[in-house]
Amino acid sequence: MTTRGRVVVVGSANVDLVVDVPRPPRGGETILGGDLRRNPGGKGANQAVAAALAGGAETTFVGALGADDSADLLLTSLERAGVRTDLTGRADAPTGTALITVSPDGENTIVVAPGANARLELDTARTARIAAADVVLAQLEIPLDVVRGASAARGPGVLMALNAAPAQALPDDVWDAIDLLIVNEHEAVELTQAAGSAAELAAMLLERVSAVVITLGRGGCVVAEKGRDPLRIPGFSVDAVDTTGAGDTFCGVLAAALARGLELAEAARLACAAGALAVTRPGAQSAVPTAAEVAALAA
Ligand code: ADP
Repeated sequence: MTTRGRVVVVGSANVDLVVDVPRPPRGGETILGGDLRRNPGGKGANQAVAAALAGGAETTFVGALGADDSADLLLTSLERAGVRTDLTGRADAPTGTALITVSPDGENTIVVAPGANARLELDTARTARIAAADVVLAQLEIPLDVVRGASAARGPGVLMALNAAPAQALPDDVWDAIDLLIVNEHEAVELTQAAGSAAELAAMLLERVSAVVITLGRGGCVVAEKGRDPLRIPGFSVDAVDTTGAGDTFCGVLAAALARGLELAEAARLACAAGALAVTRPGAQSAVPTAAEVAALAA
């Protein structure tokens, strides 16, 4: 294992087109909003930025962009964070785009046009990088077959982590393909189709996978591993201004810390610190803290 740890994020990249609105539009209705903002986003790209910048890991982003201006915006953000983009490809489709409205009460509406993300494929160079990783981190904004392929390409001892977001039911072979599941409370309820405390939901999920982390917003998270009692990691108290990207920052830093060889509970504590710092700043990738800031808060 390298001292920095090697993370390969296999996932989506989207441009977020964000407009503030007085309230969400109803069906058939046109409303006027504020100035358009164009931000780099997508769960995969956000998590790669977090793994590199806040987690300090040697991070590769395996994803598909289009041949358009949006791709340039995303590449610039990834590269500024120190993410390796040599295996970030260009597909014959528009770069993934999320159309987002934000109301004053913080309620969002989001429509995602997957575009190039739906064309992501694994080639020889990508599978070779995955085989040599310490941790592979995927989400559900890309084809499930790519998640299966990434898991199959792992070398011995490579940890396969899945952030099962956006929430959807998982086929049995995908459950079998992952070592660590990372979800928020809402996604945990979706996957279990049950109600209960985070510890109870984690116990149910442990019947399918050997390790689970459930994030709890300002409440921190619960970590659970087979054969051990679930552990609650408290959240760090901060003044939240924008919770966008907290979950992605958490996932990227968790993967990076595990790649460095930290235990799950200690990695989750760093991830909680990073998620807390992310909510103190607006945006997703622009809100990702540095590794030094994370270490200072977690100290
Ligand atoms: P998601 O964004 O996927 O819904 P969460 O809201 O659970 O995920 O946030 C992910 C992590 O970010 C939490 O586990 C926590 O560590 C941190 N976090 C989120 N919101 C806050 C907050 N208001 N204060 C402190 N930490 C937060």
